[in-house]
Amino acid sequence: MATSPDSPLATLWCPAPNREARCNGLKPDMLILHYTGMDSAEGALDWLTCQESGVSCHYFVDTEGRIAQMVAEDERAWHAGQSLWAGETDINSRSIGIEIHNPGHDFDYPDFSEAEMQAVEALCLDILSRHAIPPHRVLAHSDVAPGRKRDPGEKFDWQRLARAGIGLWVPPAPVSDDTGLGPGDEGEAVAALQRGLLNYGYGVEVTTTYGTGLEKVVEAFQRHFRPTRVDGRADASTRDTLDRLLAARSQTGA
Ligand SMILES: [Zn+2]
Repeated sequence: MATSPDSPLATLWCPAPNREARCNGLKPDMLILHYTGMDSAEGALDWLTCQESGVSCHYFVDTEGRIAQMVAEDERAWHAGQSLWAGETDINSRSIGIEIHNPGHDFDYPDFSEAEMQAVEALCLDILSRHAIPPHRVLAHSDVAPGRKRDPGEKFDWQRLARAGIGLWVPPAPVSDDTGLGPGDEGEAVAALQRGLLNYGYGVEVTTTYGTGLEKVVEAFQRHFRPTRVDGRADASTRDTLDRLLAARSQTGA
């Protein structure tokens, strides 16, 4: 077991008991960002480092921008839970997880602080310098667990991270008053939307029917890529943003 942080930015080493070897010796090729969803940072730190919680993460960032490491980067932390991305379900074996302190949607969902965002940005750059993690695999917990998770949520500034070279992001198309596709709709336009989301990596089945599962995935997409309106409806802005995101990913050679 490691006894000191992998990141020089981590000023605290708080070993978490919930960790193990990565399955099949996998190397991390994903970075997953979370919010803690708890009202106090101290409580979150305790929770993430106690066995009974059944969870852990690699890094924890508090609102003052202090960074603690809990699990060594070459080990598997328990942060993603039941998840799916690009057809794979053991996201914990493939990823590094950062818990960013924010009480979340259940506690009035305050803004992320500037100190916290600065620390997250620096930490992500530091992690990306050590691992082969492509931009389109820097993701929200909600991306890999739509419906079940909402973190880090629509207030998280993905655009800022992208400007620093972290993650893939395109300017979202302006929101208009069209309602687009939604629950109950059927047909080729729905199938095209499902194919696009599936192609990006989301857990979607191509069925031509806009069901609850698709609504949750569209919400997750919007939280990350078109955060001004998170309503689970695939309006023109949402679909256009997805198309440009797919084009941007292919330009990265992925
Ligand atoms: Zn999470």
